[in-house]
Amino acid sequence: MSVHLEKRILVTGGAGFLGSHLCERLLGGRTSVLCADNFFTGSRRNIQPLLQHPGFELVRHDVTFPLYVEVDQIYNLACPASPIHYQRDPVQTTKTSVHGAINMLGLAKRTKARILQASTSEVYGDPLFHPQKEEHWGNVNPIGARSCYDEGKRCAETLFFDYWRQHRMEIKVARIFNTYGPRMHPNDGRVVSNFIVQALLGRDITIFGDGSQTRSFCYVDDLIDGLIRLMDSSAEVTGPLNIGSPEEIAIGELATAIRDLARSKSRIIIRPLPEDDPRRRRPDISAAQRLLGWAPSTDLRTGLSRTIAYFEQLLVEQGSAALLEESSARA
Ligand code: NAD
Ligand code: UDP
Repeated sequence: MSVHLEKRILVTGGAGFLGSHLCERLLGGRTSVLCADNFFTGSRRNIQPLLQHPGFELVRHDVTFPLYVEVDQIYNLACPASPIHYQRDPVQTTKTSVHGAINMLGLAKRTKARILQASTSEVYGDPLFHPQKEEHWGNVNPIGARSCYDEGKRCAETLFFDYWRQHRMEIKVARIFNTYGPRMHPNDGRVVSNFIVQALLGRDITIFGDGSQTRSFCYVDDLIDGLIRLMDSSAEVTGPLNIGSPEEIAIGELATAIRDLARSKSRIIIRPLPEDDPRRRRPDISAAQRLLGWAPSTDLRTGLSRTIAYFEQLLVEQGSAALLEESSARA
């Protein structure tokens, strides 16, 4: 018996951390999902359970090249997101954001699909206002180590709004703040995965700088809920909209919280602060609350406990050496 599926949705970067959760959630509705990924940082393991689903299709594709498919909605998530990954081949990172946006916007224009861009809090750079509202134009170094990512994402936003003004397309821009949860890469250098893996392995927990810099961490399920609400919102809602947690925490405090939750005896040590590391970051989410009725509902302790449980399971299944080796080889 054939199932009538209402919508065909393209998720670029669908084999990554956020993309795989998004594909899984979308398949729960009356939709079919086409996942396009070049596996730069994504993995088959992330989407393994989805491969059997009749509504799921996987295509190996690099978004810096055009893609010819028929779709109703596009979530454009393709782009390495962790500093270690996006700084490995910075030219390719900028191309992925800029050429990727041009190609996916071109596809949306031809198919009249609604398109959502996974933008980032990094467009605010080292922000001049706190908490960050969407009106803040940002304080970004255009020539530093993080610029390939920050400026690539800023240019993608420019392209989205120019396509919208010029071609009257249905665009949605989400500015995603730090997100964490199961399926984060164990060895991609992001703070939550780093601290959890270090705590579980009994290694030193590495705080960069004095640990007073802050971030606001959103649990992945809440974030995906926000992205889908934005995509399905009325056509006038274009964003950019901040999607993230307003619960701000200093990195030093996060280290202690993770060590305690993981019941670890790891030492906490200090390492140099990377270049252009933002001092403070917390979204003002009042626009998302007003326009989407959205706010995160998972508190940090609950989300961290679930994430720790995921990494514990991974360590049991794969062993520490295999796990760390595999993730750095993939990168
Ligand atoms: P991720 O690295 O796990 O996923 C990115 C995916 O994109 C991977 O599967 C990778 O293989 C794929 N990809 C990379 N370059 C590609 C290319 N040229 N063509 C096709 N596929 C390509 O990262 P993530 O955390 O899941 O982030 C997803 C998106 O959300 C990214 O655009 C990122 O900038 C954005 N974002 C994430 C966060 C966060 O905290 N996770 C915060 C802000 C923004
Ligand atoms: N960080 C840290 N120790 C680590 C990894 C990261 O202290 O082992 C710090 C990093 O310097 C930054 C914060 O944690 O201040 C968040 O880093 P992440 O790379 O996760 O995200 P981003 O800087 O892109 O927000």
